Amino acid sequence: MTAPSASTPLAESLAEARKRLADALSAAGRPATDAQLLAVSKTKPAALIREAWHLGQREFGENYVQEALAKQVELADLDNIVWHFIGPLQSNKTRDVAEHFAWVHSVDREKIARRLSDQRPEGMPPLDVCLQVNISAEPSKAGASLAELPALAEAVLAMPRLRLRGLMAIPAPGEGMDAQREPFARLREALEGLQARFPEAPLDTLSMGMTNDLEAAILEGATLLRVGTAIFGERENPR
Ligand SMILES: *Cc1c(COP(=O)(O)O)cnc(C)c1O
Repeated sequence: MTAPSASTPLAESLAEARKRLADALSAAGRPATDAQLLAVSKTKPAALIREAWHLGQREFGENYVQEALAKQVELADLDNIVWHFIGPLQSNKTRDVAEHFAWVHSVDREKIARRLSDQRPEGMPPLDVCLQVNISAEPSKAGASLAELPALAEAVLAMPRLRLRGLMAIPAPGEGMDAQREPFARLREALEGLQARFPEAPLDTLSMGMTNDLEAAILEGATLLRVGTAIFGERENPR
């Protein structure tokens, strides 16, 4: 298969997203290599993921297990592709995730973490994990509370087949830069608290910022930007 020409819609939007990220890092006084795009491909066809891969994108985020597994089969020939599970995770899906992903961003309780560790195959590296925090304290939203975080982190750090890498959050939508930065600052402070408490842990990841708040997230230290719409366009069938 030949690489797609540079003039496709995806090539243009990916280049724009990369420029946004580079500009935001530069404006924040951070090195250009400090953060990367995680291309969120939920509801988008495998062919678009393949095209993004040909354009150099390697990290992809999926929300729905069955949909993701089907795409992974189609894309099994792509070297060095890295699959991140970023959606809500129920107990009955942990085995599929443990066996078919490199990262999980949505661990928010010990029971799920325990299952993922138990089910991670021996022949694979440990599963990289972010703890999801309900940073805006929204009722009935996914994520651990800030108060629960230290105990959950300590439990996950003791699990042999998981590697705790950091924190993830989806803040309530905010208008304007200051409002958007505030929850991201609290997530960064929470990560700094864990880093101080567990100095041996490889806690290097802040998974925060999406299409609408990428710049605010970068100003507060985001390292992994979960960007869907800005790369792949609007989703036609949101679930
Ligand atoms: C869909 C989704 C994204 C991407 O959102 P966009 O606004 O399209 O960039 C990021 N993170 C999670 C958890 C998502 O479900």
